[in-house]
Amino acid sequence: MSENKLQSLKDELFYTPRHAMETVDEETVKAADEFCEGYKAYMDYAKIERESVDFFVEEAKKRGFEEFDREKKYNAGDKVYYNNRGKSIILCVIGTKSLKEGVKISAAHIDSPRLDLKPNPLYEDSNLALLKTHYYGGIKKYQWTAIPLAMHGVVVKANGEVLKVRIGEDDNDPQFVITDLLPHLAADQMKQTLAEGIKGEGLNILIGSRPFSKDEGSEKVKLNILKILNEKYGIKEDDFLSAELELVPAFKARDIGFDRSLIGAYGHDDKVCAYPAAEAIFDAENPAYTAITVLTDKEETGSDGNTGLNSSYLKYFVYDLAAMEGVEPWRVLSCSECLSADVNAAFDPNYPEVSEKMNSSFVNNGVVITKYTGARGKGGTSDASAEYMGKVRRMLNENGVVWQIGELGKVDMGGGGTVAMYIANLDVDVIDLGIPVLSMHAPYEVVSKLDVYMGYRAFKTFFEQK
Ligand code: MN
Ligand code: MN
Repeated sequence: MSENKLQSLKDELFYTPRHAMETVDEETVKAADEFCEGYKAYMDYAKIERESVDFFVEEAKKRGFEEFDREKKYNAGDKVYYNNRGKSIILCVIGTKSLKEGVKISAAHIDSPRLDLKPNPLYEDSNLALLKTHYYGGIKKYQWTAIPLAMHGVVVKANGEVLKVRIGEDDNDPQFVITDLLPHLAADQMKQTLAEGIKGEGLNILIGSRPFSKDEGSEKVKLNILKILNEKYGIKEDDFLSAELELVPAFKARDIGFDRSLIGAYGHDDKVCAYPAAEAIFDAENPAYTAITVLTDKEETGSDGNTGLNSSYLKYFVYDLAAMEGVEPWRVLSCSECLSADVNAAFDPNYPEVSEKMNSSFVNNGVVITKYTGARGKGGTSDASAEYMGKVRRMLNENGVVWQIGELGKVDMGGGGTVAMYIANLDVDVIDLGIPVLSMHAPYEVVSKLDVYMGYRAFKTFFEQK
């Protein structure tokens, strides 16, 4: 056989993941770049789940969605949103088919790893005012020192008034920081493991250093901070007890690379799936199946809690839809399908030892389908069936969506999970489909613009199934 023939036989028979640029046209690249301008604007606006919900409620209203009313009966083409306690949101377009044929669900999460303030956080030490934190989600603690931080969240005052907080994002705002030890005195610290070098109780936020007055007395820096907070926001120290204040990196989303092919930002996991899944349902015109995008909270802490997907809010929403049509609700779920939209770890040439290259996802190879997540012997996963995987594969291929497969690291290297299993446990067919990320869970993560856009195309195609 000639070399040419051998090559064409290989091309025909081998599975060869390819860079998206090899298969997409120029128009698609342009569309991807444009789509990502919207994504970056969203990322700068919505750093925490509450801000994401606010963002998508506003967008939904602009796109003709109205707030869901359990008592109302909706018709094909109607668009509704359900705001779950300001921290998770369901977007839904009623399809032309009966609910007996199931619904199509895209599920992403809008919470990201960060530092939450403890309930009683404020103290003064050595003329510095500081706030104690309790980290949220899986972080490498050493990454959170000596970077600019912003404070986001809410304070519920004694009288019940809710104060929204967002400090450190405007150019004129002050920012906050966790100090780290100078290398000159870090000989002992540097001998510790990366896990131990920075302790959880060492993640204290520097917030001030000037005393209230020249008078004698203790805790005058703390007093000065409380005086400022009281004058500006009308809050007292005990208002921290009923607050959710969160420290996030103050970085803005930016293009990365001379070719501007990548985006660096805080919280791509999992807003890089949430935004395309929301845009896809906004753009879905008259879907045949009822389309649902659920953007959930609490994934990073295990999905428990009434705004996480291990609670029943998604199930109850589908039950309410079923009741409107007089269909038994479990019958709707049992024939429904879901793309669990979460990120996967992209292969990183700096750390090849943790990945098995044949089954890793790569930045720019398109959306990544993860058949199963979990750890050890596939513990803690739903493991999609070959049949459902085959169906999704056909759907993406037929609609020009560039995709690849991925496993989260080598066997026994570690592992992780997504919301897939909670939805699968409702008797729904589920597979993980998301965007590959570099530096996942770091204060500044990296994704590819083409992959983000392929995410959007995948969700839109999914909602437009006939
Ligand atoms: Mn995630
Ligand atoms: Mn995560």
